[in-house]
Amino acid sequence: MDLMYSSTRNADLKVTASQAVLKGLADDGGLFVPEHIPALDVSLKELSGMTYQETAYEVMKLFLTDYTQQELKECIRAAYDSKFDTEEIVPVVSVDGAYYLELFHGATIAFKDMALSILPHLMTTAARKNNVTNEIVILTATSGDTGKAALAGFADVKGTKIIVFYPKGGVSPIQEKQMVTQAGANTHVVGIHGNFDQAQTGVKQMFADKAFERELKEHGFQFSSANSINIGRLVPQIVYYVYAYARLLAKGEIKEGECINAAVPTGNFGNILAAYYAKKMGLPIAKLICASNENKVLYDFFQTGTYDKNREFVLTTSPSMDILISSNLERLIYRIAGNDAAKNAQLMKQLAEGGVYQITEDMRRELSDFYGNYVDEQECAQVIRSLYEKTGYVLDTHTAVAAGVYQKYQSDTGDQTKTVIASTASPFKFTRSVMKAAAPDFGEKNDFELADELSRIAHVKVPRAVEEIRTAKVLHNTVCEVSQMPETVKKFLKI
Ligand SMILES: *Cc1c(COP(=O)(O)O)cnc(C)c1O
Repeated sequence: MDLMYSSTRNADLKVTASQAVLKGLADDGGLFVPEHIPALDVSLKELSGMTYQETAYEVMKLFLTDYTQQELKECIRAAYDSKFDTEEIVPVVSVDGAYYLELFHGATIAFKDMALSILPHLMTTAARKNNVTNEIVILTATSGDTGKAALAGFADVKGTKIIVFYPKGGVSPIQEKQMVTQAGANTHVVGIHGNFDQAQTGVKQMFADKAFERELKEHGFQFSSANSINIGRLVPQIVYYVYAYARLLAKGEIKEGECINAAVPTGNFGNILAAYYAKKMGLPIAKLICASNENKVLYDFFQTGTYDKNREFVLTTSPSMDILISSNLERLIYRIAGNDAAKNAQLMKQLAEGGVYQITEDMRRELSDFYGNYVDEQECAQVIRSLYEKTGYVLDTHTAVAAGVYQKYQSDTGDQTKTVIASTASPFKFTRSVMKAAAPDFGEKNDFELADELSRIAHVKVPRAVEEIRTAKVLHNTVCEVSQMPETVKKFLKI
């Protein structure tokens, strides 16, 4: 029996895993969720002897049950290869009493590569399995990292086009350069005059537009999503928590069955939700430490049970977490509502209409797996500086938010449980902010000179992803208003 997926807003809408991957978002605007979370069916001890690719298969086969063994193994093989600059794929590094799970060794040096290097393969396999002949148009809104990772993943993948919207002025110079230099005849990159939430809402509206869908179909196109709402992104992210645990076990850092905590720098709630799913699969995780920057809507939610996006949007030095609508939280809300789609739909309607909803006391009790907190800009910089001065290890700004919140968690609770911190980007992706925090006396330097300086002080080679864009030509220069997003898409598709 295949594990089926239903919409968080309509329990009657059921699809297979491959159909969910193809669609991205359910027709009713809900997110696809598995009808139950499968349990790991190999022991932790067995997992501790496995490679990343083998672990990926053991986890993903349980969720993506309508893919054959051969299809899934082929997707995994094609994704986790020499695009990563280390054979381990995700090294677990012990620094100053915590374990950093380095998720940034892929093509675009951020953790989005973990899922976006496999999603194109999962999607084209899904198209084949479901006899889809339309060309698949990936629409993506990005706060900076998803965009490049999705572009890199889908560039020149037959049967697909990809269109990325990013907030002009809301991403780092290196992030922007990475995107606008992307090669591949099927790639398009657009800056919008607006913030990430507006880009994401614009994309969601296009997905929900039935007339637009018909028009596309007449021209042989259909939309899909590479955003973290796609179950094909969520499932590959579960893998690295299982792998991290298995590595710690293999190295003798923990005993079999010993609980660990996971601290995750959070924006759209995809990465931490993957950790939650890993826990529900039976991985011994105690607390899920949800770290926010000054856009602390999640912290307030965990404190009060009220989700309220009506607040000032703050541009921070951890831009990939500058988000007020954490899309993937909907999957958690659905679950703590007792898998009640009607109840969840009601709350999401309140969010869409008034920007706020409140969960019940019963639901709040279900949140005890989580601890939420945040750090401000100054605290984030301080974390980078003090860890660098103490150990020489340089964190990126997002990871530093998690490290700072983990410190607060420890002093709040005294909990000494071993903790894995999801290290979501290379410091070379946010060089200026990182250097300003770690070693600010660098004088006048451009971002590439700064990368060389960072390389010198951190004793880490400048990653290939940065070297590549030093001299790359700008290939995309479209900028539009939020309201012009649909016509921009049509222009690219020539319809
Ligand atoms: C996307 C991103 C995050 C936030 O992850 P979510 O899954 O959206 O919560 C954190 N750090 C970096 C570097 C990212 O690119």
